[in-house]
Amino acid sequence: MKTQTRCVVIGGGIAGCSTLYHLTQEGWTDVVLVERDELTSGTTWHSAAQVTNFGMNQTMVGLKTHSINLYQELAEDPEYPINYHHADGGIRLANTQAQMDGYRHFASMARGMDVHFEVIDAAECARRHPLISTDNLVGGLWDPLDGDIDPAQLCQALARRARKAGAEVYRHTPVTGLTQHRDDSWTVHTSKGDIDCEVVVNACGYRVNEVGAMMGVHHPVASMEHQYFLTEEIPAIRDAGHRMPLLRCPISDYYCRQEKNGLLLGFYEQDCKTWGMDGISPDFSNDLCPDDLDRVTDVLEGAFARMPALMEAGVHTVVNGPITYTIDGAPLVGPIPGKRNAFCIIGLRAGLGEGGGHGWLLAQQIVHGEACYDTWVLDPRRFTGHGNVELTALKAIEDYQNEFRFHFPNEHRPAGRPIKATPLTPVLAAEGAEFTVVNGWERAEYFKPAPGFEVTHGFHFDEAFDVVAEEVKAVQNGVGLAEVNGFNRIEIAGSDAHRFLDHVICGRVPTKEGKVGLGYLLNHHGCVKAEATVANLPGGPVWYGSAAASEWHDMDWLRAHADGFDVSFQSLTNDWTILVLAGPKARAVLSEASRGDWSAEAFPWLSVRRAFVGVAPAVVMSVSFSGELAYEIHVPNAQLYAAYLALRAAGEAHGLRLFGARAVDAMRMEKGFLHWKADLITEFDPFETGLGRFLKMDKDFVGKAALEARRANGLSRRLVSMRVDSTTSPAHPGASVMRDGVVVGTVTSGDWGHRIGMNLAYAFVDPAVAAQGTEFAVDMLGEMIPARVIAPSPYDPDMTLPRG
Ligand SMILES: Cc1cc2nc3c(=O)[nH]c(=O)nc-3n(C[C@H](O)[C@H](O)[C@H](O)COP(=O)(O)OP(=O)(O)OC[C@H]3O[C@@H](n4cnc5c(N)ncnc54)[C@H](O)[C@@H]3O)c2cc1C
Repeated sequence: MKTQTRCVVIGGGIAGCSTLYHLTQEGWTDVVLVERDELTSGTTWHSAAQVTNFGMNQTMVGLKTHSINLYQELAEDPEYPINYHHADGGIRLANTQAQMDGYRHFASMARGMDVHFEVIDAAECARRHPLISTDNLVGGLWDPLDGDIDPAQLCQALARRARKAGAEVYRHTPVTGLTQHRDDSWTVHTSKGDIDCEVVVNACGYRVNEVGAMMGVHHPVASMEHQYFLTEEIPAIRDAGHRMPLLRCPISDYYCRQEKNGLLLGFYEQDCKTWGMDGISPDFSNDLCPDDLDRVTDVLEGAFARMPALMEAGVHTVVNGPITYTIDGAPLVGPIPGKRNAFCIIGLRAGLGEGGGHGWLLAQQIVHGEACYDTWVLDPRRFTGHGNVELTALKAIEDYQNEFRFHFPNEHRPAGRPIKATPLTPVLAAEGAEFTVVNGWERAEYFKPAPGFEVTHGFHFDEAFDVVAEEVKAVQNGVGLAEVNGFNRIEIAGSDAHRFLDHVICGRVPTKEGKVGLGYLLNHHGCVKAEATVANLPGGPVWYGSAAASEWHDMDWLRAHADGFDVSFQSLTNDWTILVLAGPKARAVLSEASRGDWSAEAFPWLSVRRAFVGVAPAVVMSVSFSGELAYEIHVPNAQLYAAYLALRAAGEAHGLRLFGARAVDAMRMEKGFLHWKADLITEFDPFETGLGRFLKMDKDFVGKAALEARRANGLSRRLVSMRVDSTTSPAHPGASVMRDGVVVGTVTSGDWGHRIGMNLAYAFVDPAVAAQGTEFAVDMLGEMIPARVIAPSPYDPDMTLPRG
């Protein structure tokens, strides 16, 4: 066994084998995989191993396409062919129009990745799958490349190729401990000796937290028991003359695929069970949980009704095994929070279909620092500390119970809420707030006009449209107050604070006390990594502010680039909250609630000062995300209620009204402001993202050389603002922008601009069609809706409104 290598991958299921193989493909051949037992002895060996192309966003679709292409190549390898039923086709069923709308949106989104789904009606579903009835069926989504694969052969094939490229695989070699050294390298302790390495990867399936504990971290991953059974031969299948397509049913929560001349039927029962919460026996390997078909009778009834042939078929094998879930259902693939040179590929609940792609994206991150797609939807740092055992288990159960029911836009499911709240949360609830969830925080979305008010979840504008319009009007004509909690705020102290920020930010960094500026951080590929508001508090320190979920992500990046600078970082994210006071009467309200001169001369736009709001100490900034005169009032959580009361009291005479996150989002679209990880992603550089004015190319900064090289190659895409000619639905992120029947771009954000009465969207499009006035169609829920490029910031384009 080697005692030194570049990377040790721990775990020999699909996650580990795929990572090992892809590391060799990316150029790291001195790499090792260690497995406590045989390869695939965790969950992988007994997987139903369906391989679909369906994904909730373009990153997921792209990585699944990679899996499919790779598996097909492996299946056709003459030296070691493997069993892969490629392109049997599959149907996701639907019994509501809202579900069908979702499928239409996913088809539009996938088209941008050159993946072609088909939305079909009930009769067509039955034509393609002759065993199903059309009762209570509206239609479905057809995935032409759906199939299934032999999981053990797949892992062996990947390990074989990795070995051929120079990697080594050590079976029956449990990892017993991990030690990190001062230079961030690792020693992996195993039952057979130690291996020193630069990088470790946790790919330990349901044992993820045993290995996590060895490096002092807890991963938000929980296991559920999951069952399927295999039937005896079914004559209708034997005699069909073709393989049956796969089925996934959100109506009755099961999946079904052909296995030999019978069926494999898997269940997501409501009466589901977590597994291994109090520890896992060291002997549980190549093992299963006891059968428990009684639990799934509700689901079985639905499956029998849909496929009457099942009722005649005997069951010959039941499989019940542990399957891992995370808080939001997507895996954790990327850097381990707070650690250097440590990565994970865990929480895979569809690891056979996705594993090829996840290993590919992880290997790129390890070797090149970033993957070809933006991987935020997989980033382990997206849960910032609230992903404890109890919350993870509750969310795992909820997700399992809704396996095939996707989240509708603005839908936030109830399990485990509230996990993060401020002292104002109950106060705003009493005022009628409906809450959205931002990185665990309960954030007011809008204020209900009447106690029983509810919206119908779907892809069209909903009942809250007029409510949001009223909130926007109040801000535009008078004054509004909103709580923005969870905003990421890092205090940067030390003599090099500005020199450091100048190094990591690609534009001008404000250095004067009392001044605020907006800046962008690039990665080493010259693409957009983060967005930060830098505020120089009078007398110090410097505050670095960014999007609510970015705390761990940004902190990792700042720390990783701080060597050689006299700086220190402290997160204030959980201790402070922002109250946004916005509208033409905001100055009058602030002047009444807070002593001092708040005139435009004394406190112009982009200023920051300390003040008291009522009796509450606060840091006030004159910045605006709405385009109206506005103040961000940052208050320690202990005094938040006091500040709120002072502003409400001062606002009463001015007709102050509460507003929520939906109004904020609608207004920012009218001003051309961008959202991190919607419009600001690592796939594009600042020129492509329309941020040229924030660049300072005459200084040095992280990512500059790569940016110059990219610039020499011209733009691959351009972010544009669009007017969309629909009054019934917003353009949802991912929707394809079409011209002459060809995809020329992808929507990143969309919302109604209430102040200008226009349906607005942002999209990355082909630069050849980015000029203002260019006309397109956006594929919105299956309809080609006319759209045209407009100037950014259609509301108050000349900035005539007072801002400070
Ligand atoms: C019943 C069932 C049906 C499923 N059907 C599908 C499906 O149709 N399609 C699909 O895509 N997915 C399906 N899945 C999910 C899929 O099987 C998993 O997502 C996938 O197998 C997880 O692979 P993994 O490599 O992450 O974990 P595992 O396969 O569990 O591999 C982890 C490995 O790490 C090793 N390990 C753990 N601790 C240590 C240590 N200390 N030292 C060394 N090695 C260690 C283990 O021995 C194990 O081999 C199904 C799962 C179940 C339970």
